[in-house]
Amino acid sequence: MKTLDMNHAPLLQVTDLHKHYAPPRRWLGKTRAPVQAVNGVSFSIRRGETLALVGESGCGKTTTAKSVMRLVEPTSGSVRLEGTELLSLDAQAMRQRRKDLQIIFQDPYASLSPRMSAGEIVAEPLRSFGVGSKTERRDRVDALFARVGLRPEATAKYPSEFSGGQRQRIGIARALALGPRLIVCDEPVSALDVSVQAQVINLLMDLQEEMGLAYLFVAHDLAVVRHISHRVAVMYLGQIVEMGAREAIFSAPAHPYTEVLLSAAPDPRPGTAREVRLLRGDPPSPANPPSGCRFHTRCPMAEEVCSTHAPPLSTRGSADSERWVACHFR
Ligand code: SF4
Repeated sequence: MKTLDMNHAPLLQVTDLHKHYAPPRRWLGKTRAPVQAVNGVSFSIRRGETLALVGESGCGKTTTAKSVMRLVEPTSGSVRLEGTELLSLDAQAMRQRRKDLQIIFQDPYASLSPRMSAGEIVAEPLRSFGVGSKTERRDRVDALFARVGLRPEATAKYPSEFSGGQRQRIGIARALALGPRLIVCDEPVSALDVSVQAQVINLLMDLQEEMGLAYLFVAHDLAVVRHISHRVAVMYLGQIVEMGAREAIFSAPAHPYTEVLLSAAPDPRPGTAREVRLLRGDPPSPANPPSGCRFHTRCPMAEEVCSTHAPPLSTRGSADSERWVACHFR
């Protein structure tokens, strides 16, 4: 397992991030409420660390990741990369910082231009930032192809000529081209066969160890998260409800929602089968979230206070200062 830089300020510090989408239009004379896709999310990532964002579909994890990169523009909050506030940068300055901040998408086929060869795709960020001469860029692309496990002749092929796993390797090579410090991985293996998933995850872990990369890893597959992450943040309806070290979260989840989420994921350790628990009802709309604790309409432990007072995300004390939980009773 990787070693972490525990001694310095975080590489990425996200504070009170919000992303609200304006309602599309009035409907039958009624004004619709904004959709609160991300509502007050805070976390940090150290150099060389993987923080996984997990939760049900629609919980806001991908919007959070895209807001960090300003691929969607946050409504408010702060995103500091090595101390620089990204949300106050103009377009030109933000473009420059993207050298340090790259993304790997879920669907490697959709994210690669079908009209460019694989070599051109990986060289594109270098060309766009004016890095090196043509020959130096070609050498850099060859080295990146070798590093992600693609043969040199693959540079001349087009995306349609590769398998899904190979296309994701091209996406990884492109993300590495400018030497980033942080890579946002948006469900990077969920579109791949299970056997290929392990190869790509192991490649990401090797690259992290070799280059000291940090990952913000968005995923719904908890087996993958358990394998790759150092820490885990669990999201429900646009908010983080629990965050902590991977093993602490998986072995002793504290928030009732985390307990339900993990009960559906098989524990690989022998003799640790969990009772599968089901949530009642559907997730509420982020345009009209429940009052108080947003989970109270589905929580098996809810009491009266839960519908009126929102529990803050707070640390559990010196015994586990890295564990944060948003629940009145945990
Ligand atoms: Fe459940 Fe109440 Fe805790 Fe929310 S605050 S998770 S509703 S017990």
